[in-house]
Amino acid sequence: MAFKTLNSDEFHWLADMLETVEVGLVVLDLDFRVQAWNGFMENHSGITASQIHDKPIFDAFPDIPKAWLTRKVDAVAMLNTRAFTSWEQRPYLFKFRNSRPITGTEEFMFQNLTISPLTNTTGHVDKVCLLIYDVTEFASSKRALERANEQLAKLSMTDRLTGLLNRGTWENLVDTEFERYRRYNQPTVLVLFDIDHFKAVNDTYGHLAGDEVIRHTAQITRSSIRQSDSAGRYGGEEFGLILPETDTENARILCERIRENIEKSTVNTTAGDIQYTISVGIAQLTEGPENYMQWMQKADEALYKAKEGGRNRVVTL
Ligand code: GH3
Ligand code: MG
Ligand code: MG
Repeated sequence: MAFKTLNSDEFHWLADMLETVEVGLVVLDLDFRVQAWNGFMENHSGITASQIHDKPIFDAFPDIPKAWLTRKVDAVAMLNTRAFTSWEQRPYLFKFRNSRPITGTEEFMFQNLTISPLTNTTGHVDKVCLLIYDVTEFASSKRALERANEQLAKLSMTDRLTGLLNRGTWENLVDTEFERYRRYNQPTVLVLFDIDHFKAVNDTYGHLAGDEVIRHTAQITRSSIRQSDSAGRYGGEEFGLILPETDTENARILCERIRENIEKSTVNTTAGDIQYTISVGIAQLTEGPENYMQWMQKADEALYKAKEGGRNRVVTL
């Protein structure tokens, strides 16, 4: 908009409009003293225009990042060009409480900010205008969507009952680990284990109690392994471990510990106290297997031998 001359009527409605618009409007001189402060700013800050007039903005708002705003304003004044900052770069310039009840999940108002140069009659920039847009609703729904997507990604990778990696994810990791071994030849161990006589657990105590036992197995497993190890639920009551940079001796020690912990523990369910055991198969990765599936077959064979040998034991192949 350009105004050549304004009569006093026009000046009034123009001022009214700027006063009531639902956007924050602040004019600063180049010493950062407030020259204009509209109704939006008054309402959200609780500071009136007359209180703040000609005061340095940093005195009234010590939270404002001074170096950052100074750099921005200097660039706008020097280059005589506008600058824009979105809430994603900086959530807000003015720390206002979020006043919208629908978006009550956010504590503070998210703001987009525009800084425009204002020229005087001689054509020099001697002030800047800050426009502050309340984008809380948009920002909070975008953030909620991002959170939901993260959750979904996580859910699609993990098993609902145990929170361990699901079969697909875990098998992909076995494949990745197999390829890594081919390249770097690091000792890597694959473990498969299965709950002994689990059908009897289900038959005696019911399916829900059976689920408790599966969850308990996952908990013990999780608390026994290292950060770099991966545990997955391979099937109903079958689990898998990938132990990178581990030799069979250390894998054996770990598996014995898990086996023993399970043997010694009791799962208290509403259907009764349940004691149970697991059988474990260990397969060290060697030159033998040609692909990850053959590696898994080797671990499965070890597991089968553990079952055949009387269960509640660890067998290495
Ligand atoms: P073994 O010692 O030879 O392993 O005997 P087992 O009875 O455990 O035999 P198997 O491993 O074949 O049994 C698997 C059983 O696990 C059969 C199925 O009903 C039960 N099962 C599979 N998934 C679930 C589940 O998510 N929850 C419950 N409660 N049971 C499951
Ligand atoms: Mg079983
Ligand atoms: Mg089974």
